[in-house]
Amino acid sequence: MAGSIPARGTYFIMFNLHSHTIHSDGVLLPSEVAVRYMAAGYKTIAITDHTDYSNIDANIKAVLDFTRHWPKNSSIKVLSGIELTHLPVEQFRPLADYARKQGVKIIVAHGETIVEPVIKGTNCAALEADIDILAHPGLITDEEVNLAKEKGIFLEVTTRQGHCQTNQHVVERALKLGARLIINTDSHAPEDIISPEEVKLIAARAGLTVQEIKKIYQDVASFIKEKEG
Ligand SMILES: [Zn+2]
Ligand SMILES: [Zn+2]
Repeated sequence: MAGSIPARGTYFIMFNLHSHTIHSDGVLLPSEVAVRYMAAGYKTIAITDHTDYSNIDANIKAVLDFTRHWPKNSSIKVLSGIELTHLPVEQFRPLADYARKQGVKIIVAHGETIVEPVIKGTNCAALEADIDILAHPGLITDEEVNLAKEKGIFLEVTTRQGHCQTNQHVVERALKLGARLIINTDSHAPEDIISPEEVKLIAARAGLTVQEIKKIYQDVASFIKEKEG
């Protein structure tokens, strides 16, 4: 049933591949971000700080240093990432390629959310670059959804205030056209690191059934496995 609320205790392995630290506009160190997600029951996260030409080398160094030193036997895995944010559209491709070459695992692009003046054409330019996730894509067009589908790029359902206003549109178009979906917190502060139950509630409000949510997490699990391989 569309919009039904997942039962408490429903088994999902929890992932969040979009989070911020003091290396951009988050308030926590990467280590505290990891520890707080671990305490909240997550199994894998990615740290994806806001990045442009001014800080790409510093962000990549910080996140690679951190993830390479994170204990392999920890109950939470931490993947390296960046979020290409508010770029002139022609910069998505070179910066994504550069980050990939340095070994960054998860490349997020800051999509055309309706609550910020993101440059028009960002969704399309980001989808044409080598990214993994188009975050908060706002009122994404069918042409862009099809491009995401073709390239296997995830479209994000977000629990973040403001950006979440277009979740229903993103879900509806992605399900209709068969593009991949991912559910992320886009956390910046401790209160954004919400419980798996709260994440599922927001996903249900976006129009996803329990089965669809489960399928999304299975797809993300196989994507993470590929990234680690
Ligand atoms: Zn963003
Ligand atoms: Zn973000």
